[in-house]
Amino acid sequence: MKALTNINATSFSDAASAAQQARQQGHAVAFSGGGTDLLQQIKDGTDLADVIINLRSVADGRAIESDGAGVSIGGLVTLTELSEDPLVNSGLSAIAQAAGSVGTPQIRNVGTMAGNVTQRPWCWYYRNGFNCFKAGGDECFSVNGENGQHAIFGGGPSYIVHPSDVAPALVAFDAVFQVTGPNGDREVSAEDFFLLPITNPERENSLVENELLTGVRIPAVSANTVSTYHKIMDREAWTHAEVGVAAVIQRDGNEVQNAKVVLAGVAPIPWRVQAVEDFLAGQQISAAVAREAGEIGVQDAQPLSNNAHKLPMVTSAIEQAILNLAAG
Ligand SMILES: Cc1cc2nc3c(=O)[nH]c(=O)nc-3n(C[C@H](O)[C@H](O)[C@H](O)COP(=O)(O)OP(=O)(O)OC[C@H]3O[C@@H](n4cnc5c(N)ncnc54)[C@H](O)[C@@H]3O)c2cc1C
Repeated sequence: MKALTNINATSFSDAASAAQQARQQGHAVAFSGGGTDLLQQIKDGTDLADVIINLRSVADGRAIESDGAGVSIGGLVTLTELSEDPLVNSGLSAIAQAAGSVGTPQIRNVGTMAGNVTQRPWCWYYRNGFNCFKAGGDECFSVNGENGQHAIFGGGPSYIVHPSDVAPALVAFDAVFQVTGPNGDREVSAEDFFLLPITNPERENSLVENELLTGVRIPAVSANTVSTYHKIMDREAWTHAEVGVAAVIQRDGNEVQNAKVVLAGVAPIPWRVQAVEDFLAGQQISAAVAREAGEIGVQDAQPLSNNAHKLPMVTSAIEQAILNLAAG
């Protein structure tokens, strides 16, 4: 069995420095939030880390706070805390619902917001030792192989789907991603944080070596904002989204003023469906409008040989999310 060294970081910047130092000494390094994804990856050999920087010993990054300009969510807030927080439940319901939909209570009790957003893909080729793009190779085996759960939007050259439930809800609220590394802190917009495989087929986000996600900042939302997260799974519980949708709407009575609609489980990044957002703006919400929005949601989809079943799922997930919002 391979030997692992555990380093208990005392702060995010301490974690970044420890990672840099270990890499300079020739080690492969990984950060561990709750470890619910990472430890499985180490067992499976998809993460080759021999030094684990443990973030459970870090005191910062554990608060959810509002300061009038918006809400800050620390990277080490657990998914249970996120799903139960009164502030998040009152103004940012889609985030609370997305966090509450993840895996099992045990996973939510230790899994962190940052770990959820930065978890690696669960593609069966990547997780089972194939030398694909994600493993540093130069092929996506799903293209001519088993692609039932792969991307219908934004694929190529890799067709993984982004696995996080929380990330689409954060994107729908225009979250700003807070990052720290050996060179200091930086903030990244939701648009720039996640990377399509055409930009970098090996990574899903713009974090570079030794950088950590320390938290997110959600800009203040207006009082007439409503939101929801609707998730469809291939079994009743304890698994990733086959299709999910985070919808955030500002409305005046029954009229939509502005909408953000972001899909989970269908693309290598949380997938914004701008055509649906444009269609919804100015509409009176009704069953017919919700249905049409769902149909518009798949207009640009490009299914692979075995995943066209996701199209009606996307249509109905968008329709259901909008009906949920109409029902309050
Ligand atoms: C049975 C099962 C079901 C699951 N179901 C779902 C589901 O329905 N929805 C879903 O979204 N996920 C699901 N997951 C995936 C995942 O375990 C959880 O989402 C969890 O939130 C990950 O958080 P963590 O803190 O445990 O991450 P970790 O395992 O600690 O880390 C995950 C990855 O992120 C990196 N990382 C961790 N923290 C940071 C940081 N602060 N900065 C930079 N990188 C970091 C790690 O190095 C690792 O690569 C499931 C997992 C299992 C085993």
